[in-house]
Amino acid sequence: MVADKASDSPNGQNDKLDVLKSTQTIVQLALEKLGYPDEVFELLKEPIRMMTVRIPVRMDDDSIKIFTGYRAQHNDAVGPTKGGVRFHPGVSEKEVKALSIWMSLKAGIVDLPYGGGKGGIVCDPREMSFRELEGISRGYVRAISQIVGPTKDIPAPDVFTNPQIMAWMMDEYSRIDEFNNPGFITGKPLVLGGSHGRESATAKGVTICIDEAVKKKGISVNGARVVIQGFGNAGSFLAKFLHDAGAKVIGISDAYGGLHDPDGLDIDYLLDRRDSFGTVTKLFNDSITNEELLELDCDILVPAAVENQITEENAHKIKASIIVEAANGPTTLEATKILSDRDILLVPDVLASAGGVTVSYFEWVQNNQGYYWSEEEVEEKLYKVMVKAFNAVYNTAEVRKIDMRLAAYMVGVRKMAEAARFRGWI
Ligand code: GLU
Repeated sequence: MVADKASDSPNGQNDKLDVLKSTQTIVQLALEKLGYPDEVFELLKEPIRMMTVRIPVRMDDDSIKIFTGYRAQHNDAVGPTKGGVRFHPGVSEKEVKALSIWMSLKAGIVDLPYGGGKGGIVCDPREMSFRELEGISRGYVRAISQIVGPTKDIPAPDVFTNPQIMAWMMDEYSRIDEFNNPGFITGKPLVLGGSHGRESATAKGVTICIDEAVKKKGISVNGARVVIQGFGNAGSFLAKFLHDAGAKVIGISDAYGGLHDPDGLDIDYLLDRRDSFGTVTKLFNDSITNEELLELDCDILVPAAVENQITEENAHKIKASIIVEAANGPTTLEATKILSDRDILLVPDVLASAGGVTVSYFEWVQNNQGYYWSEEEVEEKLYKVMVKAFNAVYNTAEVRKIDMRLAAYMVGVRKMAEAARFRGWI
């Protein structure tokens, strides 16, 4: 994962990097274009519920450390809220709020019966032991237990959280609830009610979007030069899928730097050597910076790390003809405009990264039914959902003559606004 640039400048000081503000700007524009009155924006501009918790954890040296965590529930008009929990030193209240709105939009775009939610804990899991991570995971669930649950708000993995953390959280919730409750959380290990295909789902969804995007640009994945920023869950699976499909992955990066080979990197070797946080560049002396990586000459660029990576500073230097956002919020509003003016096809995060929550929905459905699907069944269903969503957004952009981000927000916000209206909230 690359360093979180947004956290370098305190929130509010730099509006252009304020992810909540820029999200609100596009939500407002999307609602205006759909003809909704102001009160709909007033309802949707912030989460309906936001909980801040303090989590005491006994550390390995026997000291007690208090961590801050958040859970934001954006809107539950459509159904229970849904979204991941991230463990990262750059987590902030504003970021979690914006992320919860993005989850609502994703659910709307891929048509899931959910609203958006998101959680985060301010911590650095790279510096914590297994036992400390278990303590913080269980402490977080105890702290938010009253507002979450399989029919209220369903957590999942996000930056630096994984199936093991989901397992501890599920166990803690089940203890509080006094029965085995796998539908409380998704992204679990298979033996605890996880779904086939969940771990690679975000990358699969991105791959499907890339397949659709190249068709529109008249190029082919086979032989295309691809750069991926980030080598975490999404970035690593994606590198593998694209490499297997015949693409040349010429650049990848992690939090510490990037690797570049114009003839194509040895992806299998890199996957073998990466650690569980996606770090691999420390093995090499001749790495490039994350900034240089984004500007490499390539056909397809996939930001798969954190927010605010493509800004007005570097947007005009991007050489790719297609950008597919696997990360949440990697491109600022100003950069989106520059890229769109340059006729670069940008497939936005709320569409491209929706494969994860889609298979999370499949996992929850399987848990509720107690009946489990094969990997093929999951893949087939995911494929249908993603292709339909991609084309709904692409066609909206074409018809309205707008960029795909605004089109995605229009598609994503509509169901929520309708549901809130039917419920008599607005
Ligand atoms: N954290 C992922 C996301 O941002 C997945 C959320 C989920 O599976 O609920 O979309």
